[in-house]
Amino acid sequence: MFDYLIVGAGFAGSVLAERLASQLNKKVLIIDKRNHTGGNAYDHYNEEGILVHKYGPHIFHTNSKEAFEYLSQFTAWRPYEHRVLASVDGQLVPIPINLDTINKLYGLSLTTFDVEGFFSSVAENVASVRTSEDVVVSRVGRELYEKFFRNYTRKQWGVDPSELDKSVTSRVPVRTNRDDRYFTDTYQAMPLHGYTAMFEKLLAHPNIKIMLNTAYQDIVDMIPFREMIYTGPVDEYFGYRYGKLPYRSLEFKHETLDKPVHLPAAVVNYPNEHAYTRITEFKYLTGQQHLKTSIVYEYPQAEGDPYYPVPRPENAAIYNRYKKLADATPAVHFVGRLATYKYYNMDQVVAQALTLFRKLSAAKSVQATE
Ligand code: FAD
Ligand code: UDP
Repeated sequence: MFDYLIVGAGFAGSVLAERLASQLNKKVLIIDKRNHTGGNAYDHYNEEGILVHKYGPHIFHTNSKEAFEYLSQFTAWRPYEHRVLASVDGQLVPIPINLDTINKLYGLSLTTFDVEGFFSSVAENVASVRTSEDVVVSRVGRELYEKFFRNYTRKQWGVDPSELDKSVTSRVPVRTNRDDRYFTDTYQAMPLHGYTAMFEKLLAHPNIKIMLNTAYQDIVDMIPFREMIYTGPVDEYFGYRYGKLPYRSLEFKHETLDKPVHLPAAVVNYPNEHAYTRITEFKYLTGQQHLKTSIVYEYPQAEGDPYYPVPRPENAAIYNRYKKLADATPAVHFVGRLATYKYYNMDQVVAQALTLFRKLSAAKSVQATE
């Protein structure tokens, strides 16, 4: 008898497996339908010996001391600050938009003070900022919105930014200084030996059994367990009773090139050209030295593995109906990006899993004293 069946060996499932096994001495079975642990953060050495991220670039950044210190028990880190260029009007310019972006794009030499004035002169007055279009036009006006955000977003999400929650484009700030880092979080680093090595350590506890290539539907009636932690898509768990929740998918096209460097930055975004949104060159992320280099192109798709919940009001309404069902199913705990339909980064999933663990351990100590 297992105390917990954990469905999904990504961040959500693996953090809970580790905590339950090591802190509460629970017997845990963690399963995944894929042939590896790590979920979408899985990385591996390809046939040329270059460390690549199978499901697209994963850059760790957080302001949460708790999440960073927790993961630091399972990995050493390589300090890494992410930088991205966007291909706009035939030039490669920094994104997030900053002072240098504006100067390069328009051939100017504005100061921070000037560029603040420039943004206020072009920003549109939006009474209530609700959508991903509102956010950008109210900060930098329509022209920059169209050059950097409109087409990228339509390509990535298959809908216009005016139909997406403001939270989507709000992820990308606008700066009037020359800071060209993609993130400004306190902790920015990559697992020194990769994500998969970190997951191996997370799951190394003797109380944890791992079963790969196994969908939970195939074993749920055969394996005895007390409670379940479910990190797959919530609509799938409930048999799509209220209809399918849209998840945006991607096709990843990996390539290895016979040269040491390909791009001038880790990532180049292509808002207005090509069917793909961006190209990533992994050696920038990992710091690996190699005579060849590996890159990945991301082609957005409607169908395929579920990668992104789509934040818009009608989807939140469907999710809320599933959430009511989830809340009424106390022996199953729903956690992670797919099971709670939240556009979460890795650190937010770690924090969510640690919060659930605290809740579970508090409930256990109440039971123990009763
Ligand atoms: P997942 O990693 O999706 O794990 C869920 C697991 O459940 C999967 O392995 C799946 O196979 C398994 N599963 C599902 N259904 C079943 C079933 N029925 N039976 C058995 N197993 C099942 N975050 C960052 O912080 N920084 C980044 O740079 C970043 N870049 C990203 C880039 C891309 C292209 C994508 C898609 C995501 C990115 N993220 C990034 C987000 C990050 O991937 C997630 O926050 C994190 O991986 C979510 O962990 P999770 O455990 O909730 O889900
Ligand atoms: N975005 C954009 N142009 C860019 C970068 C981002 O329009 O050059 C928008 C787009 O809608 C994207 C969102 O901002 O999906 C969030 O970007 P982020 O880089 O955080 O996406 P992720 O890495 O999660 O795919």
